[in-house]
Amino acid sequence: LPCTVREFSEAAGVPASQVLRILMEEGVMATMNALIDDDLTELIAAELGVNLELKEAVSVEDELLASIRDRQDDEADLVSRPPVITFLGHVDHGKTSLLDRIIDIDVVSGESGGITQHIRAYTIEKDGRRISFVDTPGHEAFTEMRARGANVTDIAVLVVAADDGVMPQTEEAISHAQAAEVPIVVALNKTDLPGVDLNRAMQGLSTNGLLPSEWGGDVEVVKTSAITGDGLDELLDTVLTVAELHEYKANPNRQAMGTCLEAQQEPGRGVVAKIIVQNGTLRVGDVIVCGQSYGRVKAMYDTLLPNQRYEEAGPSTPVNVTGFDTAPGAGEHFYVLDDIADARTIAESRSDSHRKTALSGGVQHVTLETLFDRLEGANEVQTLNIILRADVRGSIEAIQKELGKLDHPEVKIKLLQASVGGVTEADVTLADASDAIIIGFNVIADENARALAEQRGVQVRRYEIIYKITEDIKAALEGLLKPEE
Ligand code: GDP
Repeated sequence: LPCTVREFSEAAGVPASQVLRILMEEGVMATMNALIDDDLTELIAAELGVNLELKEAVSVEDELLASIRDRQDDEADLVSRPPVITFLGHVDHGKTSLLDRIIDIDVVSGESGGITQHIRAYTIEKDGRRISFVDTPGHEAFTEMRARGANVTDIAVLVVAADDGVMPQTEEAISHAQAAEVPIVVALNKTDLPGVDLNRAMQGLSTNGLLPSEWGGDVEVVKTSAITGDGLDELLDTVLTVAELHEYKANPNRQAMGTCLEAQQEPGRGVVAKIIVQNGTLRVGDVIVCGQSYGRVKAMYDTLLPNQRYEEAGPSTPVNVTGFDTAPGAGEHFYVLDDIADARTIAESRSDSHRKTALSGGVQHVTLETLFDRLEGANEVQTLNIILRADVRGSIEAIQKELGKLDHPEVKIKLLQASVGGVTEADVTLADASDAIIIGFNVIADENARALAEQRGVQVRRYEIIYKITEDIKAALEGLLKPEE
């Protein structure tokens, strides 16, 4: 069964460059993340004189998990669940202040109970309806969770300070929320400041594709102040209305599954994992597996009130859980199983180092060189996601125009993000989560971004001439693109 060049070299303990060279001698131009089939794998193994044992990648444990994960709920079992909200936006525009203020609406004591937290997650009640908040530190963390397959957010609240308006990080946050395909509600914050020009901020939103509803668009913009509390009721009502439109549902009558948001070892308490239940109901005593960790749920605590314990937690509820043997990673999915022995087997098989490499190197991202092969195998219209970074705004506009001219029956070209500046780690994370390629026009990737791109198998292409971009994409679509030197 096929593995990538990287996996092969790691498993066989030979440098990838050596593997690539042998492949080249066979007339195969490959990249680190290119899949090599059985025949080639055997050939390379023979060339290198390594003993190769082809292992079935899908184990019994994976099958067990898949059967739990993929079990469809009966329509009749589905009930509406609270929406999960994430605040995104430029730094200092008021994300933290807004959430603090909102939590005060419901909770008297704002004590976090000595639990170190990077990701805050709470549920509040507004007029008898619940809303959950998962507060990731910035859009990069938001997308990083997504890159690991953890889609916990239903609705993004984009916070824009009225005095600053739309800033570069606001634009990025918009791209990240749009790539996640979640609805966006705008909190136009700091409206208490004297002399702020609300129209200017609204204009900024419009030019970034978020046309406010009061201007005839479909984006709800709520004017807020985290200082006076103005507009917060309306913000929550708006979020609930959007949630109603989308009819988020879950089945509380099944074993729980969800995502670990963060976890750590706490003195005297063992591992405390902050998790969010996404389907089913989690109960004290349940057998649970999450990444390489497993255990029995010993106790569940409120994420705000450390002494408030729960016996069960339903869909969209974040809770702090004790009982894991080790701290699971952020973004890992958890599942409840019947049998603790199964949970242990699954957790242990995952910590087996060989399987770890197989899992981490498993995702195969699109590159212009492999695009054509993908098209061949697909029978529906494919999307080529592109993240564009350029030196100046004018270049972006010109490139957008050129890309707009490309018309292909089987491929839709989608610009996930187009912004001025060098390629950043956040771009690579976004590309990883969205299976995109990154194009840098007259800009380069910084050191960290380059390292991350290499690690995640994300293609970053650099151009200095606009028509060269479209020429390459055209060639890629026809399967005629020569590999980059
Ligand atoms: P974050 O970086 O987006 O989380 O922003 P913060 O919540 O930390 O807020 C940054 C600064 O803006 C703080 O000094 C807040 O007190 C202030 N701030 C936040 N919201 C408002 C608001 O609605 N009005 C005013 N005047 N200041 C605000």
